Amino acid sequence: MSDSKSDGTSNNLLERSDSLTPPETPLANRVRNQLRNLRKALRESVNETCNSAMNAAGKFRRPSRESSPNPLQNFRQRAGSKDIFNCPGCSKPLAQPKLLPCAHTICHQCLKTLAEQTEFKCPVCKMNVPPGSFEENHIVQSLLDMYKKVIGEGGQCSNEGLVTGTHGTAVSICLQCREDLCDQCSQHHTQTSITASHDVIQHSKLNAGHFRALQRERRMFCTFHKGKVLDIFCRNCKECVCSQCLVGEHQKHECTSIEEAAEIERGKIKEALLLEETNVSEASVALARANDDLKKEMTTNLSQVEQMVDSVADELIHTFSRSVNNKRRELLFVINNFEKEQKSLLKKHKNSLLAHHTAVKSMQDLTSLIYQHGSAVEIMKHSENLQQKATELRDQGSQLKDETWRRKVLFCQVEGEYVPKPNLIGSITQDKYPSPNS
Ligand SMILES: [Zn+2]
Ligand SMILES: [Zn+2]
Ligand SMILES: [Zn+2]
Ligand SMILES: [Zn+2]
Ligand SMILES: [Zn+2]
Ligand SMILES: [Zn+2]
Repeated sequence: MSDSKSDGTSNNLLERSDSLTPPETPLANRVRNQLRNLRKALRESVNETCNSAMNAAGKFRRPSRESSPNPLQNFRQRAGSKDIFNCPGCSKPLAQPKLLPCAHTICHQCLKTLAEQTEFKCPVCKMNVPPGSFEENHIVQSLLDMYKKVIGEGGQCSNEGLVTGTHGTAVSICLQCREDLCDQCSQHHTQTSITASHDVIQHSKLNAGHFRALQRERRMFCTFHKGKVLDIFCRNCKECVCSQCLVGEHQKHECTSIEEAAEIERGKIKEALLLEETNVSEASVALARANDDLKKEMTTNLSQVEQMVDSVADELIHTFSRSVNNKRRELLFVINNFEKEQKSLLKKHKNSLLAHHTAVKSMQDLTSLIYQHGSAVEIMKHSENLQQKATELRDQGSQLKDETWRRKVLFCQVEGEYVPKPNLIGSITQDKYPSPNS
């Protein structure tokens, strides 16, 4: 290696490491690729966060009144949906639905199981439920009953056990008597003069109007007086009572018809609903705005982080390549010195070989002289000495032939291969990030 060549290489490297654009090395490209992936992952996570927040906001929004389908259609659409028909505790169809104080409904079996535990928590909202008796969710129960009718599981005929004869499964309902009737009783109902004007509707043909009427005019019976309909509301006790209850403790209380009381309450509920709707839509708007702000904020932060990572990476690439180049120059210097050393060693070796050659030649001359012209006494006198000298020269010669000395300085032997000595390259990892002043 000539001096001019090694200098040229060093200068080129120096120029490259100090140039303004990051160097195009495999390392730099790898760092850049990793950066690109990191940036992509960051952007995806920001989008995901914002989208899930928007979806959550969407769930708060109520469908507008105009777009809500009629109750029966809604009913059919929601058939099988977890909200109404499946228990949130056991995911099975709700049987004897019970209403918890938090307004969630679970099945009778789940209520029993949960109530036996030390801490009774609602399976939906995890609210602590105080011990006590729980009311049946009549609305859900009647929806379930109605659903069964619509899908053809009408159940028993209401006349079973009351009217003699055999009764089939209930297939229709009388809107006036609110009784489920089998095929035979349906015919009888429309043919009997007293009930001839009644609307007997087949279960499968129940429409939204029938459905709403049946739901709203659903009757409930007094728990104290068998067969008595709860059709009176006592304002003093805030209780629904039957006509027989009225004779007793509620006699002097302010009582009205249950329909009248319900109409007033419906108005109040509607008002509350409207208020809630306003609250919900206001909350949705606020949430959407907050989400936009969050997205903007996160995107701004993201680009700032990207810039920061970029500049740090560029700096690292610069620093690292500068460090590598410094190391390369250092190595070139060491190798240059080594070359000079090798040259002088080679010269020395050549001189040794020359001296050896001269010694061998003169020994050969002497030996041949004694062999050809020496007397017996002279041969006997010099023979031992000559042989010893010859052995010495042979040993010296084989030592000079061994050329392992050539690589001894910079390389060492590992499993038969010559590799650079560790101390030549070992320090490259230690000064990977030298201080800017170094
Ligand atoms: Zn359950
Ligand atoms: Zn709950
Ligand atoms: Zn009837
Ligand atoms: Zn019947
Ligand atoms: Zn009663
Ligand atoms: Zn009362």
